[in-house]
Amino acid sequence: AQEIGGDDKEVVREYFNNVGFDRWKKIYGEETEGVNRVQLDIRVGHSKTVENTIAMLKGGGPLSGVTVCDAGCGTGSLAIPLALEGAIVYAADISAAMVEEARRQAEEAIAGAEGVTMPEFRVRDLENLEGKYHTVVCLDVLIHYPQEKAEGMISHLASLAENRLVLSFAPKTFYYNLLKRLGELFPGPSKATRAYLHAERDVERALEKVGWRVRRRGFITTQFYFANLVEAVPF
Ligand code: SAM
Repeated sequence: AQEIGGDDKEVVREYFNNVGFDRWKKIYGEETEGVNRVQLDIRVGHSKTVENTIAMLKGGGPLSGVTVCDAGCGTGSLAIPLALEGAIVYAADISAAMVEEARRQAEEAIAGAEGVTMPEFRVRDLENLEGKYHTVVCLDVLIHYPQEKAEGMISHLASLAENRLVLSFAPKTFYYNLLKRLGELFPGPSKATRAYLHAERDVERALEKVGWRVRRRGFITTQFYFANLVEAVPF
């Protein structure tokens, strides 16, 4: 990963509206043509994170009628299956391209499904999300937040959640491993935004500061993908 100066958030928005959109739409998609080995491996890892998240959420009871905010929804990998489970989903992303793709996929997947509410998709920076939701989920977005900004972001997400907050992030313990692999993942210049890894302890501390504790945790790994998954609840 290379360092890009300036405002990280603007860089992230720009990336996910352009080269990052094409790249991640491909990774999160189903086609295999033109998808390389590393991207396929990340696809597998990420879908495990989505699966584990859904299992975690269903562990708390059926999702029918449960309000869920999916912060940084990407192409809708989580929002769509949650809606199909009967959840009332509000999904937002900083990238208009991502939101448009998520909406397109949702229309395809949900059209005609009985008793399913179409997620409400919005182009919105997660710091500007408002309202209250039974559950807030934020998968693989912390990688775009430096530690000093992660705390505020976690506290904001917790303020939107009434019952639980589920977060996934790339753990810092795998820093060197990941760095090595990121070299393969982002071989050329201008393909990557900076990647920030987080220590589980730091994430937990940020949650504790605002009165939340980790109730369940998981770890997902494939060759090129690493994620800690935590489910937090109010103390
Ligand atoms: N959560 C989705 C998933 O797991 O399929 C997408 C993960 S993708 C690696 C990261 C996403 O976070 C991108 O779609 C990006 O546009 C979005 N994102 C990054 N920073 C954001 C911010 N500050 N507010 C909202 N979305 C953001």
